[in-house]
Amino acid sequence: MIDFLIVGQGLAGTTLAYQLLKKGASISIIDNPALPSSSRVAGGMFNPVTGKHLAKTWLADELYPYLFNFYREIENLTGEIFLYEIPIYRPFKNEQQKAQFEKLIPKHQIEKYCKIIPPQTELQGKVLNPLGGVLTEQCGRLDVEKFLDASKGYFDKLRSISNEEFDYKSIEIQESTISYKGNDYQYIIFCEGFHAIRNPFFKNLPFNPVKGETLDIKLNTKLPPQIINQGKWLMPLEGSTFKAGATYVWHELNDRNSEEGKQQIEDGIRQFLTVQFEVIDQKAGVRPATKDRRPFAGLHPEFPSLGIFNGLGTKGVSLAPYLAANFADHLLDGKEINTETTIDRLNALY
Ligand SMILES: Cc1cc2nc3c(=O)[nH]c(=O)nc-3n(C[C@H](O)[C@H](O)[C@H](O)COP(=O)(O)OP(=O)(O)OC[C@H]3O[C@@H](n4cnc5c(N)ncnc54)[C@H](O)[C@@H]3O)c2cc1C
Repeated sequence: MIDFLIVGQGLAGTTLAYQLLKKGASISIIDNPALPSSSRVAGGMFNPVTGKHLAKTWLADELYPYLFNFYREIENLTGEIFLYEIPIYRPFKNEQQKAQFEKLIPKHQIEKYCKIIPPQTELQGKVLNPLGGVLTEQCGRLDVEKFLDASKGYFDKLRSISNEEFDYKSIEIQESTISYKGNDYQYIIFCEGFHAIRNPFFKNLPFNPVKGETLDIKLNTKLPPQIINQGKWLMPLEGSTFKAGATYVWHELNDRNSEEGKQQIEDGIRQFLTVQFEVIDQKAGVRPATKDRRPFAGLHPEFPSLGIFNGLGTKGVSLAPYLAANFADHLLDGKEINTETTIDRLNALY
């Protein structure tokens, strides 16, 4: 018998698979690569201090040291590089914002992440920054596709992954185990991202999916190795290519590129970018966000051999490694799931 069948090999399923393997469990993964995946269109940015109020993100002090160790470990395991530490520069929009941010950094005790810097001469004639801005460290980009492809290669070598659609009707629930298409497992854990709304066991959880789009653009000039962020952001990829994003749309949940999305991102980056650019690619997907903005981890109250790890929303890169470790500790050692993540908070709903 295999301990865990994991459904989905996005950020959630992949990180959970590694954390379970690390603790000595046996796993098998089913993933349908023909389905749209949020992870495969993600910008991959991680940033401990976000929003117009310069707020430290939920659990930042735990998540950030953890994520560097985790992804570096997987880089060593797979022999591929996909984690890039890149500071984020937020040019001040005006004097008022400068004064506000100067107060917020000590108020929010984020000095270990953020500092105010003067205007950068290297950006002159390319990016507007007449007043300087906030430089945030411990940020960067995960090349999510590369991380997932390298991981798929690793799981392939272990003969632990199959590319197929999971069929919910083929589950047979017994007293202490569960079987799927004739194979026994201790648990089936669903990591289906946005597609969980089709899952008969967990579809009533309060998801609040949000569509997003990004652009890949080409500049004919060089910029210092920084992510520039002023609401819309510009992130260096290879050479003169950059990723720009992102949009948030709650009413049209599909993975189709839209002219409005493209326009919104172009207009957003033109607020600070003063050089010409060429759009070379566009991507769209649906983020598995939740109503209370907290992920979902836990076992079904009626069928405790079925579990879920989902709801990573807009921050899958930073949340997934730490919360997957927490869920694996629960599944294998009975440790409590983080109180804000556990689906026990929502028992009445499903
Ligand atoms: C435009 C955009 C930009 C983003 N930018 C960032 C960013 O910069 N930083 C960040 O941290 N996050 C970002 N995100 C959010 C991030 O993508 C998500 O938090 C995260 O990827 C969710 O991962 P997941 O594994 O839960 O879901 P998914 O990545 O959607 O993975 C689910 C997997 O399950 C499989 N699956 C589902 N149902 C079945 C089934 N029945 N049978 C077989 N397989 C199945 C799918 O094929 C898929 O591979 C962005 C998202 C979007 C859309």
